[in-house]
Amino acid sequence: MKIASSAHRGNSPGQLIFKSAPMRILVSNDDGYLAPGIIALAEALSTIAEITVVAPSRNRSATSNSITVDRALRVERADNGYFYVDDGTPADCVHLAVTGLLDFRPDLVVSGINDGSNLGDDTIYSGTVAAAMEGYLLGIPAIAVSLAARPVTHFATAAQVALELVKRYQHSKPAAPWLLNVNVPDVPFAQLKGVRTVRLGKRHQAEPVVKSVNEQGITEYRVGPVGKAADAGPDTDFGTIAEGYASVTPLSIDLTKFDALHLVKAWLA
Ligand code: MN
Repeated sequence: MKIASSAHRGNSPGQLIFKSAPMRILVSNDDGYLAPGIIALAEALSTIAEITVVAPSRNRSATSNSITVDRALRVERADNGYFYVDDGTPADCVHLAVTGLLDFRPDLVVSGINDGSNLGDDTIYSGTVAAAMEGYLLGIPAIAVSLAARPVTHFATAAQVALELVKRYQHSKPAAPWLLNVNVPDVPFAQLKGVRTVRLGKRHQAEPVVKSVNEQGITEYRVGPVGKAADAGPDTDFGTIAEGYASVTPLSIDLTKFDALHLVKAWLA
């Protein structure tokens, strides 16, 4: 991927001179505004665009598209300029940023870099994907970026992949917005084999909840681990990551099972 940058450095050190209006990117995540992944992402993208960060005050992973409707949301601003939403969900953050907080409409929403993969069915639960999806629902192209390992090490690799994708987007805008789910293997950038566009795979059923009794004698349940990869061939995100490539999957939102419409119609006839 070889793309001309839209910005170059001027004579004054550290000053970015843009040839045309800079792209404005809203960055969010589900791990919270202090997470190393969002800092790596925002810093990488700030080399080519104006970045505004609006993210949850704390880790809100696996909140999916949840929004807060039972209380008002408060927004604070950190010393580094990042906005954080007090106990807000990822979807809250993007929703309030786009529809009220910001005095401009972002050209792109980028979410991440998540601490851990969001492959296959993970996308249903993922707050990282949900932050991007909220932008997409509001008509803005959006990219969710996750680093596929636990614990993760190479945020710089995922940041570089995100940067290349945004550069590509700057160079060549799709006719209609896309929602892209991106997973990056946790390797040094030099070891990344490339980027492949593939479909989502699928996991086996999740492991059962883990039951325990606490010191007060109260029975508790903890959600168990995700299922192992099931549909994980080379044409899937699972297979792509396993082979050392970053995966890019365009997502849709309509959950209609079109090939069952006529079956259900007949069943109800
Ligand atoms: Mn997360």
